[in-house]
Amino acid sequence: MKARILNRADVLKIVDQLRQQDYEVIAPFHGWGRDTFFDTVTDENRERIELHLPNPYYPPKRFVLPHIERLLKVRRANGGIQIEPTYEEPKRAIFGIRSCDLAGIYHLDRFYLGRDFRDIYYEKRRRNLFLVNLVCTDPDRDISDECFCVCADTGPAARDHFDLQLMDLGNEFMAVAGTPAGEALFASPIFRKGGVEHIQKRHTILTEVRKRFKTTTSWFATTIRCVSQGSVSERTWEEIGNRCLECGGCTYVCPACTCFTVSDRPVAANEMERVRIWDSCALSGFTRMAGGFNPRRTVHDRRNRRFFRKLAHYFIQRELSMACVGCGRCADVCHGDIGMPSVVEMIRRASTEVDKHERVGY
Ligand code: SF4
Ligand code: SF4
Repeated sequence: MKARILNRADVLKIVDQLRQQDYEVIAPFHGWGRDTFFDTVTDENRERIELHLPNPYYPPKRFVLPHIERLLKVRRANGGIQIEPTYEEPKRAIFGIRSCDLAGIYHLDRFYLGRDFRDIYYEKRRRNLFLVNLVCTDPDRDISDECFCVCADTGPAARDHFDLQLMDLGNEFMAVAGTPAGEALFASPIFRKGGVEHIQKRHTILTEVRKRFKTTTSWFATTIRCVSQGSVSERTWEEIGNRCLECGGCTYVCPACTCFTVSDRPVAANEMERVRIWDSCALSGFTRMAGGFNPRRTVHDRRNRRFFRKLAHYFIQRELSMACVGCGRCADVCHGDIGMPSVVEMIRRASTEVDKHERVGY
């Protein structure tokens, strides 16, 4: 991939370039206290864009898959019914998307675009999305105790699926083009060719940054085996399920969760709209069928589906990765401490117990 160097003072000129090309640019900002968020860049807030900050609790997933999105309008008129699909096709750029969230969008791509049926609503939003990945290099601000992208094979530096990648080298930044559209930005005079020393610095920084990760779920392989084989005991799933308060937080903050429900609602006397809304496997209504029957009535039964969906070999084979990108958000928000790293550890512990009484004998 082609790389260029630019001065630190010029980094936000990339935002300006994208805005001049009519992109709505979304970038990370700092709110009050720990609060951080992605928002649209305007002339007023452009100077407040933050390059290094704690990971926003809400990933930028909503800019390609909104929480709630109208799919179509239905109108009663002239004695008949008119149906009007309502597509949105914004020209958007996400500046400063982290490697884990980038992998989350790639995961959505495989779910919504990679199979027999392409989701036309997702496709239209995704078509003009320009992604500027920012490598997490600040050990204090970028990386929290819950981050584990190193174990999910997604970071701290994304390998692909970005248009442009930026990495902080100190007084300078390295820019790497991932697509022809990203490379086209290099025509700007703010970019120049770098030397071997820049590549060396990149390696040194990444080596150091990797040492900062505290959550290392090196037991993923064991957990994937146990979940795929169905060898996690009912008792372990109950232990996990008993700690779930069914708030849905883990799924709403997850950049790799894909589930939604569809609902119709009246908006005027002769008009209704059909909307798509994020759904959560943690909620009891998720599997409730017409007539009221719910095949997954108990909480632990719903929790095991979440982890089956994220870790089972069947899905990994189908989607070429597990459905967890290691952002650590579920660990951050869960009241019951059953975010992904804790569950991996609980299953690991339970499997060690089983292995202690190995099935070898004479
Ligand atoms: S965040 Fe925790 S408590 Fe809330 S639904 Fe998810 S697992 Fe349950
Ligand atoms: S399961 Fe948890 S750690 Fe993994 S991607 Fe989702 S929110 Fe992040």
